[in-house]
Amino acid sequence: MSNIRDLILSEGVISIRDDCKGCDDCVKVCPNNAITVNGLGTKHVIDPAKCLSCGQCLITCPFGRIEDKSMVQEVKEALAGNKVVVVQEAPAVRAGLGEAFGLETGTDVEGRMIAALQQLGFDHVYDTVFGADMTIMEEGHELIGRLMRDMGVPGYETVEGKIPQFTSCCPGWVRYAELNYPDMLEHLSTAKSPMMMQAAVTKTYGAQQLGVDPADMFSVAVMPCTSKKYEASRPEFISSGYRDIDAVITTRELAQMIEEAGIDFDSLTPDEPESLLGMGSGAGVIFGNTGGVMEAALRTAYAALSGEELETFEITAVRGDDAVRSATVTIPLSDEWKAVAGVERLDLNVAIVSGSQNVTSVMEEVAAGTSPYHFIEVMNCPGGCVNGGGQPINHEIL
Ligand code: SF4
Ligand code: SF4
Ligand code: SF4
Repeated sequence: MSNIRDLILSEGVISIRDDCKGCDDCVKVCPNNAITVNGLGTKHVIDPAKCLSCGQCLITCPFGRIEDKSMVQEVKEALAGNKVVVVQEAPAVRAGLGEAFGLETGTDVEGRMIAALQQLGFDHVYDTVFGADMTIMEEGHELIGRLMRDMGVPGYETVEGKIPQFTSCCPGWVRYAELNYPDMLEHLSTAKSPMMMQAAVTKTYGAQQLGVDPADMFSVAVMPCTSKKYEASRPEFISSGYRDIDAVITTRELAQMIEEAGIDFDSLTPDEPESLLGMGSGAGVIFGNTGGVMEAALRTAYAALSGEELETFEITAVRGDDAVRSATVTIPLSDEWKAVAGVERLDLNVAIVSGSQNVTSVMEEVAAGTSPYHFIEVMNCPGGCVNGGGQPINHEIL
């Protein structure tokens, strides 16, 4: 296991094969100019020092000449061994997996996917939506703390982090920020991503509830994202004293495992995730689309500050297709918060950036101290995780 992780940390997740045709299509979609061009028609090369492991090049290459490092073998060995093998599945996977089995893109196949995971031999199947809810709670309350500190509200003086607060759930964006804006990392939320949040709880509280020593637990995540393989390999994620995640497989790789095992996906009887860590709110499910994280965290902040639920129509401005979108959300404060904050309401300016490379103008404003925003979501992949680098691909040419 350590070999693949070491390789991922030193080389990144994504590499271009020797039979690359040098067509340049991958270069056009790379958000961090990580692909070296040696001339049209010659093999292109990825610079690991710049690569975000996002896989946007991989799903774009019309010839299928880009690969991601695989942890499938480690998963198969764990399934054949004596450890308790747990798996979490992300919301965007259930919307993408059906495509690999000929269903219309976006068809929700969660029930059949859970049945397939059970047939593959996973001992416990959990829904990453539980982790997403924890991320939302953390991010929402972290935002409230930073806002109150900046308003001079007593009791918040020691809160750390800067406004505007950026989301931190996308490892592609986090790496982009680390590489391009190392002096501005205090603006990022300190909340773990849903995958890492869930993984930390699974090997601590979850292992305790199951009566399993975390040393005897093997934790797998099925993700729409190749960058999650990089995130899970980062050395800081060891909450239980052991790796929070032992292996990440993509939607594509799960589809391959199901096919290889001879499971007839269409005829599976749908099942449900387990309840220990499997329950989640609707808010966590919308993490898969750009604007989803923002909407979910804002709903948390709105409910905490006003004591009321945010009506759907008031926040639809943050959903959409533009690369940078913004909105103002007015939060009427509850009597309790009015007394604490000394104002009747908060006008929160929020922005959503789809594609890390589109963050430049927003960051320039932040650096200049002229940003009008309080909260900014950045997702590396255009449209969010539903279009992640680990989703099924339909190559026209192979
Ligand atoms: S898109 Fe594929 S074939 Fe074209 S340059 Fe990139 S890796 Fe090579
Ligand atoms: S994985 Fe992402 S960052 Fe790396 S070369 Fe491909 S498109 Fe660029
Ligand atoms: S947008 Fe989603 S799929 Fe793309 S890099 Fe970020 S977390 Fe991964």
